[in-house]
Amino acid sequence: MATIAETGKRTKRDELLELLRDEWKRGFDNRVVMGGMRALQAGYAPFVPPEVFAALRHYSTLDAAGRKQALTLAGKILNNPPDTLTPGPSPAVREREVLMSSVDRISRAPATNSAPKIPPKPKPPPVVKPMSLSDEVMFLRGVGPKNAALFEKMKVRTVGDVLYLVPRRHDDYSQLRPLGHLNYGDVVTVVGTVLRIAEVPTSTGKPRTQAVVMDETGTINVTWFSQYVARQLPQGERVALSGTVEEFRGVLTFTNPEWERIEPGTDLGSRIIPIYPLTDGLYQKTVRSVVRAAIAATEGQIADWLPDAVRQVQGLIPLGEALPQFHFPDSPEAYHLARTRLTFDEYFLMQLGMVQRKQAWQAEAKGAAMPADAAMRDAFLARLPFTLTGAQQRTLDTLLAEMAQEMAMSRLIQGDVGSGKTVVAAAAMYAAMRNGYQAALMAPTEILAAQHFRTLKQLFDTFPVGERPYVELLTGSTRVTQRRPILDGVQKGVVHILVGTHALIEDPVVFANLGFVVVDEQHRFGVGQRARLRSKARTIAPHMLVMTATPIPRSLALTLHGDLDVSTIDELPPGRTPVETRVIGGDERERAYDTVRDAVAAGNQAFIICPLVEESETLEAKSAVAEHTRLQETVFPELSLGLLHGKMPPRTKDRVMSAFRNGDYHVLVATSVVEVGIDVPNATVMLIEGADRFGLSQLHQFRGRVGRGSDASTCLLIADDVGRTGRERLMLMESTNDGFVLAQADLEMRGPGDLFGTAQSGYDLPLRVASLGDTRTLEQARFTAEALLAADPHLMHAEHAALRDRLDHFWSREAGAGDKS
Ligand code: ADP
Ligand code: MG
Repeated sequence: MATIAETGKRTKRDELLELLRDEWKRGFDNRVVMGGMRALQAGYAPFVPPEVFAALRHYSTLDAAGRKQALTLAGKILNNPPDTLTPGPSPAVREREVLMSSVDRISRAPATNSAPKIPPKPKPPPVVKPMSLSDEVMFLRGVGPKNAALFEKMKVRTVGDVLYLVPRRHDDYSQLRPLGHLNYGDVVTVVGTVLRIAEVPTSTGKPRTQAVVMDETGTINVTWFSQYVARQLPQGERVALSGTVEEFRGVLTFTNPEWERIEPGTDLGSRIIPIYPLTDGLYQKTVRSVVRAAIAATEGQIADWLPDAVRQVQGLIPLGEALPQFHFPDSPEAYHLARTRLTFDEYFLMQLGMVQRKQAWQAEAKGAAMPADAAMRDAFLARLPFTLTGAQQRTLDTLLAEMAQEMAMSRLIQGDVGSGKTVVAAAAMYAAMRNGYQAALMAPTEILAAQHFRTLKQLFDTFPVGERPYVELLTGSTRVTQRRPILDGVQKGVVHILVGTHALIEDPVVFANLGFVVVDEQHRFGVGQRARLRSKARTIAPHMLVMTATPIPRSLALTLHGDLDVSTIDELPPGRTPVETRVIGGDERERAYDTVRDAVAAGNQAFIICPLVEESETLEAKSAVAEHTRLQETVFPELSLGLLHGKMPPRTKDRVMSAFRNGDYHVLVATSVVEVGIDVPNATVMLIEGADRFGLSQLHQFRGRVGRGSDASTCLLIADDVGRTGRERLMLMESTNDGFVLAQADLEMRGPGDLFGTAQSGYDLPLRVASLGDTRTLEQARFTAEALLAADPHLMHAEHAALRDRLDHFWSREAGAGDKS
């Protein structure tokens, strides 16, 4: 007989089910009651199992598919409260039964942890046919056409590719974590015994595998979204699992962990196991055995191309030792030595190429001296509405001094957003023009090009006729009727400064006398595009200036711009109000929206950045569209919201940006494509959803979009559910406004990829093993490369022959890697 309380519960449960059904019918718009799921939680959480709202926890931030899933799950729990989910004896009783039966199996198993260790009889070494690094992977033992095709997907085609397949990490089985000591969020490898395992049907029709794995200290639940694991991993087996510890209904779980069955008798204590990147259908086990086969087949065959002298001075181990130890190290120390050797190799080849390129460019490049006397310089400065900062002045002095030389300048200016790079470039272009040369400024997008054009025109408009440079703009959308006269003017030398996009490097553009080129936001352009712009100067090598707003730590600057000299503008113009930055949780989202409303009420504008979707720009665009609709319809119905994402045609993007700058929208909802360098002085709020998915440098770039006018600005970083380290990382944004500090932090914490963001990275670092945190090895490599090339500029000495071949190969393979827009 049900008690009254229970009856009450049941009605509330039914009510909630009804509401969830309605939400489903409405198409998951989170508006079934005012305030959405959050309001439901307030009203119903006390009456239903806690799992229900746990399942709905992130509802408001999910897309339709995610919401559907969450509703399905919540509905299931409501229909089948947990204690009746699995009919049969109570879980505790069943657990014991299974435990007994598996203990039985385990004790019959050939060997266990506690059994005395009998070293497995060494197998006679298989007869291995020696192979060279360039042999096809196909011919390795254990690789048939099917696996070869899978390896091909990972661009692994030769035995050498296999040996250079970089493990994502290694697991040291002597350092395993006991199951009883796991915490939510840990990324770990554990070893345990399969207590029970079963294929379970699901409502979606896709069977899963459910398992419980135990060790002496505890158990963990495991789910694989595949029924096959259940067929391949019998109860009682020992298994290694790697993955992130999650929590489901208060129990620690793994979902789709990597797994490896551990053969009975395996001595785990001494094994350090590589974990490789995989592709669908390829298993760790397979990759490991293929790597072993490659190591065996090349034993004693690997020639070391690094000159002995270099190897000895640097204290590096031979390549033939480094490669096997890189995969299956005998000890952590052995791994470290192997990795250092391979890291040095990559840095060294890269630096050799860059130093050579710089030397070649300087040798071949007969530039033109463009002296700027003090009077010319002062005339320019006198017309600025402000005085240059110390850092701007220093940089300008360096530029002018170099331009006065005949050897062509090749220099990168890096400076934080708003540090005033453009005006420095303008001064240098002015000097070129006064020396009778034309200048070109290439920007990565039309909108940036147009912005530079406006800035330069405004600046030069105050100059007396005769000293005033004539500036023109050429982009993909310049109308045909306008193109002709512009191209004519450029060819005749009437146009002094041509601003544009990559349209500048296209064929019809012919300069009369190009002497100076500026490339803005250079990480969008490849080395090839830079070279093509330079080649527009026909008779001389032009001076080249590259500007970037992504500050780069020295180690990375050496890597990316080893062929450029670097100047840094490390000071902001005075009088800027720093942007107030706050990291907040998803539960404060409404307050963040209020901040947006307040800004709009005060006549300002706001950006809302949607979470990064790393896998695909299409998905990202889709979720941005959904977020825009949601915000427009349910959050800010009274405001006008624009939308900007990467899948829009460039014209549309430009139109949206212009409209936003003109104040046609109160709020711009954008993905990470929101252009660096765009000036919208009226925008004062930058709200970033899913802030934890972005690199700090990228967040800093977003933040740089506000605080450009005189009004105080706010940057709100929303992060749902980040762990402690994730939060601490983001808190750095609150404590510093220094892009260099943030870039260095990115580099140390997450590697170079984050410095540029996935979506807009134009770099493909030709580094596989090397991590850029390893500044010491990089500097050694740079130094060694310079010394070696000073002694043997073209690597013609006999002892450098192998190195020369390797270098050719390295650069031919990476050639064009950076050449994309
Ligand atoms: P960056 O390209 O480095 O992000 P900009 O060149 O666009 O920066 O300059 C940002 C803004 O600061 C521009 O409006 C510019 O006119 C202004 N500015 C540049 N240098 C100074 C200075 N020394 N003092 C005051 N304002 C400056
Ligand atoms: Mg700029």
